[in-house]
Amino acid sequence: MVFDLLLKLLTILNMINNSIESLKSPFKEKVKAFLIHVKVLNLTNVKPFETLRSIDRQKDLYAIWRTTQLWHKPVTWTMESFHLQWLAVDLCFYDSNNQPHWEWDYKTLIEICKLYWIRSLSPTETCHFEDNPFTPLQTVITNVSSLWSKCNITDKLSLHDINDKLRKMK
Ligand SMILES: [Zn+2]
Repeated sequence: MVFDLLLKLLTILNMINNSIESLKSPFKEKVKAFLIHVKVLNLTNVKPFETLRSIDRQKDLYAIWRTTQLWHKPVTWTMESFHLQWLAVDLCFYDSNNQPHWEWDYKTLIEICKLYWIRSLSPTETCHFEDNPFTPLQTVITNVSSLWSKCNITDKLSLHDINDKLRKMK
């Protein structure tokens, strides 16, 4: 599909940032915990597709269906995207050939994100997860702690680090 090729080209040109580290705290810590939880559930094929976005790229995406690529459905509904504020992540499923699948079942992800006060924009933008600015950090800390017993040692260390950072933000 033309759109898939376009996205591939943008990735090659390094126009899509998918780094969790580039997100703002405490959203960054919440996403890290969310992704560890997703891994614990054996959804190992879920990866961030895009985190922060340039205003130029937002304009390009907004133009799809409106002024360009009229045969395709809109990609974004807003120019005020949380991606511009480093407060959103698009998650995607990848198959064994590393091909993205936007049509796979996001139900579990949409359930789990709530534990970390992350908002899902399903069904308008199912792959999109963004910050809830009214997060009770203590609740997130408690939920991160209850994940601890299910993890391997590396993830345990990450969870410890996440909670340490969240505690300092309270
Ligand atoms: Zn998004």
